This record gives sequence, C-alpha cells and structure tokens, in this order.
Amino acid sequence: MLLKRYFNKPEGCEPRRDTRGRLVNPPPLDRIEVLHTGVSADQHISTRVVDAGLAEGWISIGQGKLTLHAKPEALVFTIKRLPGYYCCHCGAALADAGQVLADGSTKGLAHVREEHPNATSPDPGNPSGYERINHYDLVLDAKQHKRYKADPKQAALMMSEARRQLRAKGGA
Ligand SMILES: [Zn+2]
Repeated sequence: MLLKRYFNKPEGCEPRRDTRGRLVNPPPLDRIEVLHTGVSADQHISTRVVDAGLAEGWISIGQGKLTLHAKPEALVFTIKRLPGYYCCHCGAALADAGQVLADGSTKGLAHVREEHPNATSPDPGNPSGYERINHYDLVLDAKQHKRYKADPKQAALMMSEARRQLRAKGGA
C-alpha cells in the first residue's frame, strides 16, 4: 500500500530540527492520498503507524473495522487480527502468551504443549508454535481493492525507483 501525506505549511514556517535531525515543528496534516493499495487485499499496518493515525485523526477503529480517512475516499478494512500473540497451529489469540510460568516456560508454550502435543510448528519462523505480531492484520473492502490495487509491474518499478532514491540520498 502506498499513501502520500500532504501537510498544511503555514506561511513563512521554516522546518526546525533537533540534534538528531527530527522535525520539531511538523506542520499540521492536510490530507492523505491513496496512490495504490498494493497487489493484495490483505494488508499489514504496523502498530506504530496505526497509533500515529489514531493520534493524528486519520485512522479510526470501530465495530471490527479500521478506517483510513484518505482521499479520494476513506478505505475500510476488516480487522482479521489485532497486534498480539497467536497460536501457529490453531490460530487462537493467546492474550497472555508472554507470561512466564514457574517452570520458566510461557503461557504460550503451555497452550501449544496442551492443545497440540508432539506437533511440529507449521511456521518454521516460529518453532515454538506461537507467534507475536506487531501489526494489524487487515483485509481491504473487495470493491475498494479492485479500484485501487497496484499493477504488480508498476509496483515493482515504484519499489526500484524508491530504492534508487534512497541510495542517492545515502550517498549525498
Ligand atoms: Zn493452538
């Protein structure tokens, strides 16, 4: 998904940065435009981005939906999974999976041991059999995905252009 943020730059406002190069007087956000929504309706949006969107008012969450208040229209996603722990075997949400037990294992491991004994984790990236996700697992409204989806060829071109720009910046 590719979004572009537009800011209202007040007349005569000069950007000021702190010693670490962070902008200390960011201008107010005017609008967010949807350039495309990726090649798949399934989207991950990081907790950090969602938190920023909620604080700045361009994301809202309610009734199982996450709405991104963009132009030309708000994008509506169904929330499949919230950030947190999940079992790789059965997909169950394991809210307190990180809690350490008296024997040094965790509640997540206890779930896997009890519910899926002797089973190998279906996810090689998470051999413990449970995972922690730090993003919102979303699926975009099907009609909107059809309207805004990226052409895979175009998306590849945009990615390589973005990488080229990054390299150019790094070298400057
Ligand atoms: Zn399970």
